[in-house]
Amino acid sequence: MTIIEPVKPLKASAAFLDRDGVINKEVNYCHKISEFELVEGIVDVLLSLQKKFTHLIVVTNQAGIGRGYYSEQQFQTLTQWMTAHLRSLGITVTHVYFCPHHLSGIPPFNIECECRKPKPGMIMSALEKYNIDPAASVLIGDKVSDLQAAMAANLSQAWLVGTGHPVGQADIEVSDHYFPTMSDLEHFLNEGYVSEIQGR
Ligand SMILES: [Mg+2]
Ligand SMILES: [Zn+2]
Repeated sequence: MTIIEPVKPLKASAAFLDRDGVINKEVNYCHKISEFELVEGIVDVLLSLQKKFTHLIVVTNQAGIGRGYYSEQQFQTLTQWMTAHLRSLGITVTHVYFCPHHLSGIPPFNIECECRKPKPGMIMSALEKYNIDPAASVLIGDKVSDLQAAMAANLSQAWLVGTGHPVGQADIEVSDHYFPTMSDLEHFLNEGYVSEIQGR
């Protein structure tokens, strides 16, 4: 009798994305649809990422909730609008993780949490929930704290974009790649990235 070993399912991959300064233009404490404007070129980048990775997952610090500037409900309303808008453009976001905490916020949000980037808690939750291989996954952020979260979660690459917060040379040196614009990233995804990963 032949015993057929169950095939271990292949692990998934993910592109993790910061939100503010990556998906939408950086506005201090963006929480309204009227303040939400897509970064130029992000739609093409998301469409390309979605061809290369199993999941698109957003990981966003939302200290404005903890500080009482806007409510979790307002954040969720904007999130639902954002994901529906992206879906109408052919882009599926698997999950939006957010951290509402800040030490100088108001109770119950003023805690030392494990999810606020540069800590990797949001990424770690996604790796487990969706059976994602960190070595097959990347993160795109506009701040060093995004990159540090990716590194702490052992993602294969942490990419910095110049579409949000001002970027300096010291920030660039922390990243695996720096893309001043989304069209630079788009070019890299279509020309360079596949051979780079296959060479690992
Ligand atoms: Mg950001
Ligand atoms: Zn948190």
